[in-house]
Amino acid sequence: MIKAVYPGSFDPVTNGHIDIIQRGAKIYDEVIVLVAENVSKTPLFSLEERLDMLKEALKDIPNVRIDHFSGLLVEYLKKIDVKIIIRGLRAVSDFEYEFQQALTNKKLYPECETVFLVSDLKYTFLSSSMVKEIAKFGGCIKGLVPDYVAKKLYEKFNIEMENEDR
Ligand code: ADP
Repeated sequence: MIKAVYPGSFDPVTNGHIDIIQRGAKIYDEVIVLVAENVSKTPLFSLEERLDMLKEALKDIPNVRIDHFSGLLVEYLKKIDVKIIIRGLRAVSDFEYEFQQALTNKKLYPECETVFLVSDLKYTFLSSSMVKEIAKFGGCIKGLVPDYVAKKLYEKFNIEMENEDR
């Protein structure tokens, strides 16, 4: 049974993340979506809210599990005896940061491998920060995040959802 961990802040989960998770779940027997508690940027959503949105978004994929951690990713991997980290690559701009992370994790835990899944073309421009920025000003985020997440975003920014297109 080969398991993989997909770590991130998921603040909030987007359709780009979900696409990576769905594809990862076809490759591995189990994908553990791991929410980082100690994100360097102050998150908009609490850990509980981020977990709740992921739970709703991923409820139909049977071989996906959701967990959270604080501390070093490699310590979590060792604890549950998993050696594969999944990350998504959108554009060249992701590369440097991801390369550094992958090499750091390899240094700390030589048996681990980071596997990159290239973003679907339609989500290449999509990030949690961009979605938050659009929602904050009441713009349309349909197709970028699940409806449940869109609702939570507008609630957070006290924006009425009277427009069907939102
Ligand atoms: P982090 O703060 O650790 O980068 P994120 O939640 O922003 O966490 O992203 C988690 C992973 O998902 C990262 O590997 C990131 O590159 C990837 N990712 C984010 N958005 C997309 C997207 N639209 N398509 C594919 N991968 C994505």
